[in-house]
Amino acid sequence: MKGKSSDCYVAVVGAGPYGLSSATYLRAAGVETRVFGEPMAFWEKQMPAGMYLRSHPSASHIADPNQELTLDAYCRQNGNRVPKPIPLECFIDYGRWYQSRAVRDLERRNVLNIDLDPRGFKVVMADGEEFTSRRVVVAGGISPFAARPAEFAAVPSALASHTSEHNDLREFKGQRVVVIGAGQSALESAALLKEAGVQVEVIARKKTLTWVGLHPKLHHLGVISKMLYSTRDVGPAGISRLVAMPILFRTLPRRIQDRTAYRAIRPAGSGWLRPRIAGVPITLGRKVVSCVVAGSQLRLRLDDGTERIVDHALLATGFRVDVSRYPFLSQSLLRQLETVAGFPVLKRGLESSIPGLHFLGKPAAWSFGPLLGFVSGAEFASNELVRSITRRNGNN
Ligand SMILES: Cc1cc2nc3c(=O)[nH]c(=O)nc-3n(C[C@H](O)[C@H](O)[C@H](O)COP(=O)(O)OP(=O)(O)OC[C@H]3O[C@@H](n4cnc5c(N)ncnc54)[C@H](O)[C@@H]3O)c2cc1C
Repeated sequence: MKGKSSDCYVAVVGAGPYGLSSATYLRAAGVETRVFGEPMAFWEKQMPAGMYLRSHPSASHIADPNQELTLDAYCRQNGNRVPKPIPLECFIDYGRWYQSRAVRDLERRNVLNIDLDPRGFKVVMADGEEFTSRRVVVAGGISPFAARPAEFAAVPSALASHTSEHNDLREFKGQRVVVIGAGQSALESAALLKEAGVQVEVIARKKTLTWVGLHPKLHHLGVISKMLYSTRDVGPAGISRLVAMPILFRTLPRRIQDRTAYRAIRPAGSGWLRPRIAGVPITLGRKVVSCVVAGSQLRLRLDDGTERIVDHALLATGFRVDVSRYPFLSQSLLRQLETVAGFPVLKRGLESSIPGLHFLGKPAAWSFGPLLGFVSGAEFASNELVRSITRRNGNN
């Protein structure tokens, strides 16, 4: 690849739901676009086999401008109905099917570095190719943002690892594992570990577990349900409608945005997980205060003075956005990027303080609300991106 160069108008970094969707919209609008990344890599390599999506099928389509590449269309062509909940493997296959139809020329290579250039951006690929792009769309996902609590900072990952470091929890068979956290990932990991014959306990700071989807009737009340819930499926009744309108959401006072966002995505488990974790010990309202390596095991001390000796601690402690952790953004570019608490500050078109640099997916959530952390936000993001790019440039 070294030496060969093909400059472009837009370079999309990432081939998950946001990268694939935005590239499809851009090309449909006639914008010359190159797209990089392994398709659905995060879902395949960093989520556990046997997992189910928490989002409803209506919120799990990867948006395309003609609404032809829906999850329903994918299942229909295989002679199936859309399963509910959606198995992880089905969603990964769907994403690859989408890519094979809409982004056939996806370049399955990694971007090494992006820097400012008089003509836009200089992009350096891991295999040595260099080119310039007038605009860059970062759709790199949340992988670099895995949050590891301070108490576990010094513990080797062989003994304490983040959930995103695993794609098969059966590797813990026969061991004693604690899961830290109380959200969907923690509770589903506990279920998968139990089913794999692991002795598992869940420990969380929350005093009670929250379950969602326990009142399915609320979704079958016709017009009333439509008024309460958006098909985007982010947040509870009422809030679901508000967060589905990111342009309105961002006009709310910041305090209300923050509170509403927390309410929409607070740690909770899907109701269908409840029977699967029956019998798993769950210690709530407790925090791990120290963590010491003891031979091949870990000794955890909780804030009630009790101890646990385990083979492994699985940290289902979520993700904290900090775009400076994207390894491909150069230091000089990051110095010019306006951020708040690790999130880029974005204007319409999901464009950052650096003209021509756009961020999609979870990093856009500070500016456009929690919808952007979910697959169902890709339609808004892609439309917004295309609208701003084509309008400003008289269509490329
Ligand atoms: C356990 C778990 C369960 C979830 N369940 C749901 C759910 O049910 N519904 C839902 O809507 N959301 C769910 N999410 C959130 C989900 O991660 C996002 O909705 C979705 O992944 C966002 O898509 P994305 O395209 O922004 O990122 P990703 O899907 O993470 O894609 C990122 C892409 O960037 C590529 N990339 C990264 N770095 C580079 C580089 N240097 N060069 C080239 N390419 C690069 C990767 O290879 C990948 O293709 C879940 C998250 C987790 C952790």
